[in-house]
Amino acid sequence: MKVRATRKLPGSAWAELDQVEITPADVPGPDVEILVVVNEPVDLTLYPSLRLIANYSVGYDRIDVPAATARGVAVSNTPGVLDAATADLAMALMLAARRGLVAGDRIVREGGWAGLRDGREVSGATLGIVGLGRIGSAVARRAAGFDMRILPVRRSEGDLEAVLRDCDIVTLHVPLMAETRGLISRERLALLKDGATLVNTARGGVVDEEALVAELVSGRITAGLDVFAHEPHVPHELFDLPNVVLTPHIASDTIETRAAMTRVVVDNVLAFSRGEPLPNPV
Ligand code: NAP
Repeated sequence: MKVRATRKLPGSAWAELDQVEITPADVPGPDVEILVVVNEPVDLTLYPSLRLIANYSVGYDRIDVPAATARGVAVSNTPGVLDAATADLAMALMLAARRGLVAGDRIVREGGWAGLRDGREVSGATLGIVGLGRIGSAVARRAAGFDMRILPVRRSEGDLEAVLRDCDIVTLHVPLMAETRGLISRERLALLKDGATLVNTARGGVVDEEALVAELVSGRITAGLDVFAHEPHVPHELFDLPNVVLTPHIASDTIETRAAMTRVVVDNVLAFSRGEPLPNPV
């Protein structure tokens, strides 16, 4: 089957696919049957022969799955293999935001030595986990090692408002979809305690970004943010703030996890090519 990818993926498994054309997604591919993307939108009219979109990401919020299904195009993703790396980054952002890691590093590099004085505890803190799926559960396991009290919010249980009010730290792990877009609204952000920390390694669109920026500018809360509403744009108001730690969507970005994600993509492409069931259908 004719395979195209929007980029070459890292790791040894990639070599098991032969003759992959590397081309941006917006170039017409009349004979492309399998398209490997990194959560980029796909204009299906450019791909009349397409049968599979193999997504190199667990989140598929930029892929129009209903439109693909209507055209008989299957979609696969990479669940599970990135849970540990993503949960690790959520913990790192919690620690960095609450313990002044980035500000402290800057002080030392600038030749200073003054203490920060406004660090907040992570150990023993009350942690709200919004979305207790694969990654949220991996965060819960790590948080247990920090003696944290965990208040989960599942789709069907847990009172989001109460959790926002009660927690020292809130970490987001829901997928971005119609139901979760803007879930952490201006009104809900206002429920966070003074000095609370919001960690977002899910998707920027889950939070009202304008309202979050206003809360951070006011200095009332702190945050650790790996994702933004309009990536790669990051609101410039955040750049000089000491109470927010920023990373460029790197939660799954370790050599080991990226190679494991490529393995999953390749397994889906090979299974589909052989007419076997997809290991990871969306
Ligand atoms: P998952 O296993 O599907 O977990 C998502 C959880 O969110 C599910 O338990 C789901 O409940 C729950 N949920 C959905 N809507 C909810 C709502 N309104 N309120 C509360 N809970 C809700 O997904 P995952 O593998 O953990 O991944 C989660 C997301 O993380 C991905 O979709 C992706 O966007 C993001 N992510 C980001 C990075 C990064 O690089 N920053 C890396 C990996 C993943 P149900 O089971 O009832 O549906």
